[in-house]
Amino acid sequence: MTIEPDLPQKITSIHFIPKFCSQCGAPLKETFVSEEGRERLRCSKCGIIAYLNPFIVAGLIPQQSGKIFLLKRGIEPAKGTWTFPAGFVELGETVQEGAVRETKEETGLEVRCGELLGIYSFKNFPVVTIVYLGEVVGGSIQTCLESSEVKAVSPHEIPWDQLAFMSTKDALRDWAEHYGS
Ligand SMILES: [Zn+2]
Repeated sequence: MTIEPDLPQKITSIHFIPKFCSQCGAPLKETFVSEEGRERLRCSKCGIIAYLNPFIVAGLIPQQSGKIFLLKRGIEPAKGTWTFPAGFVELGETVQEGAVRETKEETGLEVRCGELLGIYSFKNFPVVTIVYLGEVVGGSIQTCLESSEVKAVSPHEIPWDQLAFMSTKDALRDWAEHYGS
């Protein structure tokens, strides 16, 4: 598998571009909105604007005894590469709660969410990834559909050439720089 972490990611279309107005069902059209000084998708009938915004992804780097837990992605995008647990924040939960939930789902580990490591955002990339540190407080390693393998690694064992996303690489670089000595 070829991994090109510095090139635009394969995830380019997680946003379904709407064709019709969610309020009245009429077609949406690219329209210059003078109040906002830019083109928007606007309803041709009722005038409502369909805003497209990035999704929020909550991530967490689980730590225990100087090591961190990484998982091998079991699904696309970036199947077969390594990352820390992360996923879309659901309505009804905080980003921290989402990070803890995703960690449990993808690794089996129970964590206490700690301090913010960083916020990773890229031009023309449809998600903003917010990454926390977390201490492992229980659970046991298990895999799921989304994670085919889970392992603890030392800072010098991070597989830099097999990481999933730009945000994965940047967050782990920040972690290694500040905590990985
Ligand atoms: Zn409409």
